[in-house]
Amino acid sequence: MSCFEWRDAPEGDFAVLGDPVSHSLSPKMHGAAYAELGLELRYLAIRVELSEFDQALDHLVALGYQGVNVTVPLKEVAFEWCESLEDGAWRYGAVNTIRLGDRAGMNTDVPGFLSVLRAHSVEPGSRVLVLGAGGSARALIRGLLDEGYAVRGWNRTRAKLDAVVEGLDIEVLDGIDVRDCEAVVNATSASLGGFDLPVEWSQASDGCLAFDLAYGKELSPFLRGASGRGLPVTDGLPMLVEQGALAFEWWLGRPAPRTAMLRSVGL
Ligand code: NDP
Repeated sequence: MSCFEWRDAPEGDFAVLGDPVSHSLSPKMHGAAYAELGLELRYLAIRVELSEFDQALDHLVALGYQGVNVTVPLKEVAFEWCESLEDGAWRYGAVNTIRLGDRAGMNTDVPGFLSVLRAHSVEPGSRVLVLGAGGSARALIRGLLDEGYAVRGWNRTRAKLDAVVEGLDIEVLDGIDVRDCEAVVNATSASLGGFDLPVEWSQASDGCLAFDLAYGKELSPFLRGASGRGLPVTDGLPMLVEQGALAFEWWLGRPAPRTAMLRSVGL
């Protein structure tokens, strides 16, 4: 999939910005949505380094872009760039969707994530273990607590998680303990490097959902372990599609063609 450096970006309408970003499925997914509805819009992948975010956004505004999604490592700097925030994004400290004209931002990762949990019948009140303390884990923990889930957390570097959840009603674990959970969410980036996490899947309750935010052609080691124990699993693709559909709807004010978007990423 082609990817532009921001200085070389052609005119367009929407884009995903990140570093790296060439692997992103967002251009394919939004392109499929535009084709389905007969919209003459262009959605591109554009590489932007963290230190050049403000310059890059000025450039894209000048080129006529209406909105951007942002991914690793730009979600926190995007949050700072926005002058107004919608739908609770101020609580998450991270923005993944920006409307450029009025510098408005929102976080569609959190509702996208919650909709996948609900699709697997993991309802508010259930106990969810979140692994990780990066930008995604931080936002998801807030979103889960806001919805009334009981949240447990673990991170390789405990001090980082302690800082992230300070003042929040969450149980922080020293080791990964999956007992009595309805879902275990891998919000670390371990799977991106092909690494597993020390999870004793034999201790998980029957029906516990294993949810890895990462996605790839094959199951991650984390999901393979859960699947081997006979547990339901999902990777990050359904969440990716839902966050993209919510961004589409916010930018364009019309329902997103979810079936076409799901099909475009092989679901
Ligand atoms: P960050 O870089 O902010 O956080 C990384 C986290 O992973 C840290 O908690 C880090 O722990 C932990 N970690 C990294 N390597 C390992 C390892 N080998 N073993 C254990 N822990 C490890 O990443 P993000 O929060 O932005 O993203 C996390 C994941 O979520 C990525 O895979 C990303 O692609 C995915 N994602 C998917 C989305 C989707 O739509 N499907 C949306 C958003 C994110 P430590 O603090 O100890 O360094």
